[in-house]
Amino acid sequence: MQNDQAVRLEQVSRSYASGSSQAVRALDEVTIGFERTTFTAIMGPSGSGKSTLLQCAAGLDRPDAGRVVVDGVELGPLSEKQLTELRRDRIGFIFQSFNLLGALTAEQNVGLPLRLAGTRPDPAAVREALTQVGLGQRGGHLPTQMSGGQQQRVAIARALITRPKVLFADEPTGALDSSSSRTVLELLRALVDGQGQTTIMVTHDPVAASYADRVVFLADGRLMDELHRPTAQQVAERMTRLEADVARAMSGAGGAA
Ligand code: ADP
Repeated sequence: MQNDQAVRLEQVSRSYASGSSQAVRALDEVTIGFERTTFTAIMGPSGSGKSTLLQCAAGLDRPDAGRVVVDGVELGPLSEKQLTELRRDRIGFIFQSFNLLGALTAEQNVGLPLRLAGTRPDPAAVREALTQVGLGQRGGHLPTQMSGGQQQRVAIARALITRPKVLFADEPTGALDSSSSRTVLELLRALVDGQGQTTIMVTHDPVAASYADRVVFLADGRLMDELHRPTAQQVAERMTRLEADVARAMSGAGGAA
């Protein structure tokens, strides 16, 4: 096992039944490692398997075949309870839609993962987490009293309060305007550079991907390519070619009318 990798997928496949027709192969024997203290973006056309890869890597979905190893622990043999504990202790998650509880203040939202784990949140640690995301003065505010970008930063503080080994982000800027997106992406970048926070982010936005150390490209459930520290323009150009390849393959397979 490569100990320098926070997450490793080996020959991971995941199919979904799709009515009467053939099952959809969302992931097709994907092998990939994510080095510790690095920031990876996962890109690909819609339906290419990005969310499925993230869900399998984060122990939210179980592959049909292959191995997933998170922080040195193989997920396959774990019971549901063990998997839940592993997610709680070692994984942080942020979503496009923030998923804050509207009746709770920013501080209460940030402390929630600790409460759910049966520990009393240390107010100083909660304040520190909020300060880290630039919201030290906003602890008493409700989500409705904050902008989208601020709410996402609260969600990041909530994901980091348990000091996870890996932070997974599923389209974290998908619901934000470009200025809030920039703030959130700069924060994610700073967490990697300043604290070595291993981060894996699914995005369809080349600008968001350009904040990562490595951008991997999926198409049809398979890894197609990767770029290191690319510019947004390089990412966009690679995506355009990938989409053209996919369209060509579909028409070649008789998919077009
Ligand atoms: P992406 O995130 O790149 O848009 P997904 O991982 O969501 O791709 O989906 C990959 C493929 O698997 C798509 O064809 C999608 O329709 C299918 N798929 C994903 N989740 C499910 C599900 N729960 N049930 C059936 N099909 C699914």
